[in-house]
Amino acid sequence: MSEMSLELRVLGTAAGGGFPQWNCGCSNCARARLGELPARLQDSVAVTANASDWFLLNASPDVTRQVEATRPLWPRVRRGSPIRGFVLTNGDIDHVLGLLLLRENHPLAVYCTAEVRAGLLENPMLRTLMRFEGQLVWRSLPIGDEIELLGPADERSGIRARAFAAPGKPPLHFPGAAWAPGDNVGIELASEQGGRLVYASGTAAVGPIVGDLERASVLLLDGTFWSETELIERELGARSAREMAHVPISGRDGSLARCEGLPAGRKLFTHINNTNPILDPRSPERAELVTRGWDVAEDGMRLLI
Ligand SMILES: [Zn+2]
Ligand SMILES: [Zn+2]
Repeated sequence: MSEMSLELRVLGTAAGGGFPQWNCGCSNCARARLGELPARLQDSVAVTANASDWFLLNASPDVTRQVEATRPLWPRVRRGSPIRGFVLTNGDIDHVLGLLLLRENHPLAVYCTAEVRAGLLENPMLRTLMRFEGQLVWRSLPIGDEIELLGPADERSGIRARAFAAPGKPPLHFPGAAWAPGDNVGIELASEQGGRLVYASGTAAVGPIVGDLERASVLLLDGTFWSETELIERELGARSAREMAHVPISGRDGSLARCEGLPAGRKLFTHINNTNPILDPRSPERAELVTRGWDVAEDGMRLLI
């Protein structure tokens, strides 16, 4: 590996609930249980610029399984971890619950916006992560400014990050709360070689962030739903994709149409809901996105930028 590139490990590619989802009997989940489609853990990505200090984008409820499945994240000393911290894109349970699972006396830096932090600190269970000074080191994640991610004791990582506001909504556990730009962000990570990862695992629209997506050499984009009415058609929910703050892949204003012509060399969908037909590699929907220059991110995928 060249010293200044970013190394990414895709830790999970499913939307909240995972794939299969424990209480879902849709045809995709049924086929995953039978081993006919590969199961997927909940969306998260690990990144390093020096092969030893790792940051994770979002803290998935599957984080402990993801660590065990990813050799570079294993401890290298009798007690410790190469994970220095997290960057949170919003306060949704499927993006933050993993923090609570890593409560075993290991200091972590947590980068998030003021809105996300305030929402987390309303939950008294978070106090399990404040048992000693410096267990969680909260770091602000400014919107628009590039920063270097630093470990809990200010260790340099060489990873440069820039957050950008993405259309979204407050977490479900804050019903009725007014939406603020810091509630939901995308993350751009830059390597010193000039390559850039843009990670936008949740966005209600592409138009407002297309300038950010244009900067990507590798793009990981919200692939939650294929169609606007996916849950309604399957009688699994009453809300449309956009009402759940996820732009659908298909359709006139969908991400395939709106991302036409983006220069990224690699365009991947992640955060895929268990109902999405692209989970089946032989589906016509999968064939269509491949024809249009996209692919589906896979758990365990390694990418160099
Ligand atoms: Zn999510
Ligand atoms: Zn399902």
